[in-house]
Amino acid sequence: MLDEAAVGEVYRRLADAMPGRTKGAKGPKGQPSAFRSCISCMLSAQSLDRNTAKAADQLFALATTPEDILALDDEAIAAAIKPCGLYNMKTRNIRAFCSALLERHGGIVPDTREGLLSLPGIGRKCADIVLSFTFGKDVIAVDTHVHRVCNRVGLTEAKTADKTAQQLEERSPEWAMRDGHFWLIQFGKRICVARSPKCGACPINDLCEYYAALTN
Ligand code: SF4
Repeated sequence: MLDEAAVGEVYRRLADAMPGRTKGAKGPKGQPSAFRSCISCMLSAQSLDRNTAKAADQLFALATTPEDILALDDEAIAAAIKPCGLYNMKTRNIRAFCSALLERHGGIVPDTREGLLSLPGIGRKCADIVLSFTFGKDVIAVDTHVHRVCNRVGLTEAKTADKTAQQLEERSPEWAMRDGHFWLIQFGKRICVARSPKCGACPINDLCEYYAALTN
C-alpha cells in the first residue's frame, strides 16, 4: 500500500483533475429524503441503476413513509419492486427496516453510521451514501468504481467494498474526506475504467501500484 505522503499526493492530483462535491448533490440514487435513499439503496443490491430506479418509482408511487409501506401487503411490495430482482428477499428487508425504524427511531432515519447500521438491510455502503448525500457528512462512500480505483492505486488493499471504506477512513487525510468520493468516482468513470484503464493519460501513473507492476 502507498505510504502517507503518496496517499496525500494522489488526492492532491485527483482534486486538480476531477470535480468535487457539487452543491445539492443528491447521490447515486437521486432520492430526496433519507428514508427514500435507504430504500433505494436496499433495492440496488445486484441491480442495474435503471432497474433500481424503476422499482423505486413504482414503490414510491404506492407509499412514501414507513407506515404506508407497512400497510401494503407483501405481494404489492414485491410486484412494485420486481424490476430490481431478488424481490422477495428485498420485500422482507424493506418491511423489517420500516418496522425497526418506527419502533426504535420514531420513523426518523438516524444520522449516525452506528444508528444506520443497526437497521435491518442497511450495510456500510448504504449507510455511507446516506450519511454523505442526505446528511452532508464528510464520508467517502465506496461503490464499485471507488473500490476498484483504490485497490489498483494502492490507497487500500481490500477484497470487499466495506473493507475498502474502512481502510480509506483510516488512511485518508482529513481534508480529502469531504470530496474524496467525488474525485475517486469520476476518476474511475473517466480514466481508471474497469476494462483497459487509460494509464498512459493518467495523472497519478507514477504513484500507481497497478501501473508499476504492469511496467516492471
Ligand atoms: S495508472 Fe492506470 S491503473 Fe493506475 S490509477 Fe491510473 S489509470 Fe488506474
